[in-house]
Amino acid sequence: MTSRVAASRESEEMAQYRWKRLSDYEQLMFCDDAETGLKAIIAIHSTALGPALGGCRMWPYDSEREALDDVLRLARGMTFKAAVAGLPMGGGKAVIMGDPATDKSESLFRAFGRMVDRLGGSYVTGEDVGISVADIEIVGRETAHVGGISSGSGDPSPVTAYGVFTGIRAALKHRLGGDSLDGATVAVQGLGHVGYHLCRLLRDAGAKLTVADIAEKSVARAVEEFDATVVAPDEIHGADVDVYAPCALGGAINDKTINEIKAGVVAGAANNQLAEPRMGAELVERGILYAPDYVINAGGVINISWDVLRPGTPYDRARALAQVDRIHGTLTDIFQRAASEGRPTHEIADELAMVRLEHAHAA
Ligand code: NAD
Repeated sequence: MTSRVAASRESEEMAQYRWKRLSDYEQLMFCDDAETGLKAIIAIHSTALGPALGGCRMWPYDSEREALDDVLRLARGMTFKAAVAGLPMGGGKAVIMGDPATDKSESLFRAFGRMVDRLGGSYVTGEDVGISVADIEIVGRETAHVGGISSGSGDPSPVTAYGVFTGIRAALKHRLGGDSLDGATVAVQGLGHVGYHLCRLLRDAGAKLTVADIAEKSVARAVEEFDATVVAPDEIHGADVDVYAPCALGGAINDKTINEIKAGVVAGAANNQLAEPRMGAELVERGILYAPDYVINAGGVINISWDVLRPGTPYDRARALAQVDRIHGTLTDIFQRAASEGRPTHEIADELAMVRLEHAHAA
């Protein structure tokens, strides 16, 4: 009896907690389309600064709950990312529940496009894990609210990689006083759209690479093109390197991995790298400098913002990259403030975002 009361209290608390989290969001849309097999969720976290921009992820989630947690976390991260990058845009995200290797079809993406279109431009979609430019171009047959297609700014991944590269240099400069990558060692986890381009930039700058991916083909390509050293996916976080760059899925810094990280810097493209916010403080205690994920990986959103904020204007890669270069300065400010206040870098980044959002709400 006692345990049933405890269990019901716990589930009530959990329900309240979930409701509180959900009420932080402006809009949630669930789609279950039997005809095309589309099962998707779109979360709009905030449009306080402008239309909610955020890519669409396709992943074989184990449950709808898992997909919901992912889309909520990602959408919120997009709000903070746009705010810190100084973009007049909000944050949203979409997830399609399915295996990108086997479940893609034109009808599925068109159904998703109609769903995005119903939101009337308050959500603008693009690429994320499991989704290519070609997929978004199909989505774009049903809605104008897409970014990152070939007639506009194109695949954001190389620009995201460039921003991460810039951010790694800022982190090395803060930590070591110089930002040369010549001879530096970097472990790249995930060799997909962003990870691959990041490896190329690092290698061209003289870095030595250690890599891991669950896809053997991607690993083989990195060995051939970058002379990379390969380690198992569950060991990459513990590589004895200068920089650990998580570029796969979220949660790379968790209770298990944090004890095994040997790198002095964690700086990579993946969203939601800290499994729990407290991991930020634990990284500080271990003397590891963390580049907050949504600050260092903002290159893609900055690039896509060209499509959203300047429709009809030809895309200008040089100007977009110049905007992405500012990530170096933003991170340097965050690192310096965190050091002088003795606080985790992700807290400083969150504060920067919240100040911008509060101003927008006040206005
Ligand atoms: P992607 O799907 O192209 O690549 C992800 C790669 O990670 C794949 O090669 C996959 O096989 C690999 N992977 C998955 N689980 C792994 C594991 N346990 N260990 C090692 N490798 C694993 O995705 P992407 O577009 O390169 O994005 C990578 C990360 O960066 C994601 O977290 C994404 O949200 C984030 N991000 C991407 C962009 C962008 O412009 N594409 C922008 C900002 C943030």
